[in-house]
Amino acid sequence: MGKSNMGDMNEALFAFIASSPSQFHTIATLSRKLQDAGYKALHEHMPWKIEASGAYFVTRNMSSMIAFRIPEGKPSGFQMCAAHGDSPSFQIKENPELESAGVYVKLSTEKYGGMICSTWMDRPLSVAGRVVVSENGRIVSRLVNADRDLLVIPSVAIHMNRGVNEGASFNAAVDMYPLLGSESTKGSFRRFVADLAGTSEDAILGTDLFLYNRMAGTKFGLDGEFISAPRLDDLQCAFGCLKGFLQADKPKKATVLCVFDNEEVGSGTRQGADSGFLDDMLSRAWHALGRSDAQYRAALAGSFMVSADNAHAIHPNHPEFADRSERPVMNGGIVIKFNASMSYTTDGLSAAVFSELCRAAEVPVQRYANRPDLRGGSTLGHISLAHVSVPTLDIGLAQLAMHSSYETAGAKDTEYLVRAARAFYDSAYRVSGERIALN
Ligand code: ZN
Repeated sequence: MGKSNMGDMNEALFAFIASSPSQFHTIATLSRKLQDAGYKALHEHMPWKIEASGAYFVTRNMSSMIAFRIPEGKPSGFQMCAAHGDSPSFQIKENPELESAGVYVKLSTEKYGGMICSTWMDRPLSVAGRVVVSENGRIVSRLVNADRDLLVIPSVAIHMNRGVNEGASFNAAVDMYPLLGSESTKGSFRRFVADLAGTSEDAILGTDLFLYNRMAGTKFGLDGEFISAPRLDDLQCAFGCLKGFLQADKPKKATVLCVFDNEEVGSGTRQGADSGFLDDMLSRAWHALGRSDAQYRAALAGSFMVSADNAHAIHPNHPEFADRSERPVMNGGIVIKFNASMSYTTDGLSAAVFSELCRAAEVPVQRYANRPDLRGGSTLGHISLAHVSVPTLDIGLAQLAMHSSYETAGAKDTEYLVRAARAFYDSAYRVSGERIALN
């Protein structure tokens, strides 16, 4: 593949990220792209009609989505990828305006997930999310995005905090409130939100609003070998898996793409990976095809799941945090994640079959493990596994500054994930005696 192709893929990734400032927008962006590709929206509360070679998607809470495609013939299982559509942020409270020093209005917020606080300071922020409004006696959800520089969380000057470069601590109830305006704007935020939602202040019944970093994605490095953007964890994987999912042209099994909400806060919601969402959708699809429950269980036994969530690249200033032997690099291809305590689902077998698949697709593979004395993050793979127990592995793309409001990754890796995901979706998980393969 040419360099220009790599560049185009990252431009498309940046556009995807820019149109996904909140988890609700991620799902709206995905839904649009699926509809453009001919996928039909199904609704959980309605009966389903599923056809062979049909392509469908379902959303839950407007913030999680499962898309699937039924191949010709009698599919014998599911080839699945899962990523998450949420990122650490600050959620804005329902009654958010705080006066300060008699001259400012700022917004009261609460942490959503574990972010690096300092990276949210001194840069233009905006507001996006969902507003629930009353409209002609009905309750309606609207997505809103202020889509302009609206707020800043200002640092304290070094003259007043001489220790700021010796390791600062940030109290979410003191240091992290964003400045919205001068005293004269007091009482205006709700009207501002109502305008965004195309309604009146009185008609607002509820809100799920979040701050987001306004900076656009960019390519940098002497050879343009790196990219930086907000929310690369995990929109880089959501985007790469989506592209591969849509490009697959000869799937042998039912292909499934999951993008879950609430990974950053433990997944334990109705729409998170720790819910019945995936099992509900797969079993309904199978039953709508006229299959029995026993046939559904048999289909799961012939299925495979790839949990895709970004991984830590070795750090240029702190290589000591990397493991001694498993140290992924940016632009080194797909990272397969290992953990002896099984926080990552990968084992020797799932790694072997996926590595072989990548080798055939000419996509490089590398390995990640936490330094043994550092506890890493968790992923949705092992959470989802508790509900839909299929062979699974955890992969990601190597990145720096995970949970910064502006993260860095490799310019080549987006394309590698697209190619690996496509090859995966065009393959089938097969078990015959002692032989297991994805081909
Ligand atoms: Zn993640």
